[in-house]
Amino acid sequence: MTITKHSSDTEIQQAVTAWLEANWDQAERVPRQADKYIEREWLTQVVEAGWSVPSWSSEYYGLGLNGRQSRIIESAFKEYRAPGAARDRYHLGAITVYKVGSDTLKRAVLKELLTGPICCLLYSEPNAGSDLAGVRTRAVQDGNDYIINGQKVWTSNAMEAEYGMLLARTDWDAPKHQGITFFLFPMRQPGVEVRPINQITGESEFNEVFITDARVSAANIIGEVNQGWKAFQTAIAYERLIMGQGVTARRQKGNPTSHPLIRLADRAGKLADSHVRQKIAQAIAYRELNKLNNDRAKAEMAAGTGFSLMSLSKLAMSRIQHGEAALATELLGVEALLDGEQYPDARNAHFDSAKAYMNSIGGGTDQIQRNIIAEKVLGLPKEPEHDKGVPFREVRIRAIDE
Ligand SMILES: Cc1cc2nc3c(=O)[nH]c(=O)nc-3n(C[C@H](O)[C@H](O)[C@H](O)COP(=O)(O)OP(=O)(O)OC[C@H]3O[C@@H](n4cnc5c(N)ncnc54)[C@H](O)[C@@H]3O)c2cc1C
Repeated sequence: MTITKHSSDTEIQQAVTAWLEANWDQAERVPRQADKYIEREWLTQVVEAGWSVPSWSSEYYGLGLNGRQSRIIESAFKEYRAPGAARDRYHLGAITVYKVGSDTLKRAVLKELLTGPICCLLYSEPNAGSDLAGVRTRAVQDGNDYIINGQKVWTSNAMEAEYGMLLARTDWDAPKHQGITFFLFPMRQPGVEVRPINQITGESEFNEVFITDARVSAANIIGEVNQGWKAFQTAIAYERLIMGQGVTARRQKGNPTSHPLIRLADRAGKLADSHVRQKIAQAIAYRELNKLNNDRAKAEMAAGTGFSLMSLSKLAMSRIQHGEAALATELLGVEALLDGEQYPDARNAHFDSAKAYMNSIGGGTDQIQRNIIAEKVLGLPKEPEHDKGVPFREVRIRAIDE
């Protein structure tokens, strides 16, 4: 059966389930998947069947479905524990190329991106984080290529990435937002050195990336030369949307008492404590509320407006994660002082407390989200900009210039 936007929910459900029954052998596939890698062969099958990016147009591997229809496919894949669906919601590199790349770039790389492992984000630099438009990584044209020199930092998954979405300066005489170009940069080449950074969570997912005389083709520009900041707005809005959705609470479907906070309260004998009950209810209500806000932000974004609403979702999710981790710690009481394999609840609470900072720093800090909400949502005056309209080569950076 061919699935189109006119198919009923039941037809979509039946088609995706029949396809998974015929093609997905969990017992054989799951052990063959390494941690972060998913077999390219399987992903190719998913892309070619239209399940990978069902909301996209058929010209680019989609089925033209709406959000509700796409979620039927995502849920079926989750049920079968099969990877590769919902890449139109989570694959930042592919989404950005699809939304703002030229047709030539889309035809050249989209399928590869959708069937490959990882595309990292080469944005932040030692002197450009919150003030990201201050990037100093340099891209100089050389025939059909650009030569890249500079340093990036906090680059998640750079070790595994085959591509990086790179912000680099191409015009030093333009004001800072206007001389930046956005590239789809090949990571596996001489001149790209990746050094892992150890994180407080014990993970080492982010890295420093040193780029020396590396090359990227002009055909890999996302958007227009010197208009990279504009194209980047799409990428960052989707990143904030993904972060705003947060980690799904670990609970079994249809069984509300399996919510981790309820289980902890039960274990601590505090289920009848009205203070605890209120706090758990609040934590669950905040997640539900943020889900609604996310839906509103997504609808506005699909209509081409509402990019700043993503900041509300991301900021709220950051508060929610800090709040849930603090409540878990409170419920554990003195056990929260312990750690190690024999105390999994304490270990989870420590991990969640530290990991909550990922959402409040990565993708733009909480303070920056508040600035965006103040300006773009509430209409308050902008922060003073000392470098507005100034050619970038004349903008001073204290750490470098003093
Ligand atoms: C887990 C994680 C993953 C990350 N992954 C990536 C990645 O893959 N790729 C990538 O490029 N980057 C990544 N980052 C980097 C992240 O985007 C930056 O850390 C972030 O934008 C802040 O920049 P900074 O660290 O330079 O802090 P700074 O910009 O130096 O900020 C320091 C402090 O000053 C505050 N501040 C700065 N300016 C203002 C202002 N105008 N108003 C109010 N307060 C302000 C900030 O809120 C912050 O508290 C990641 C970060 C984390 C934590």
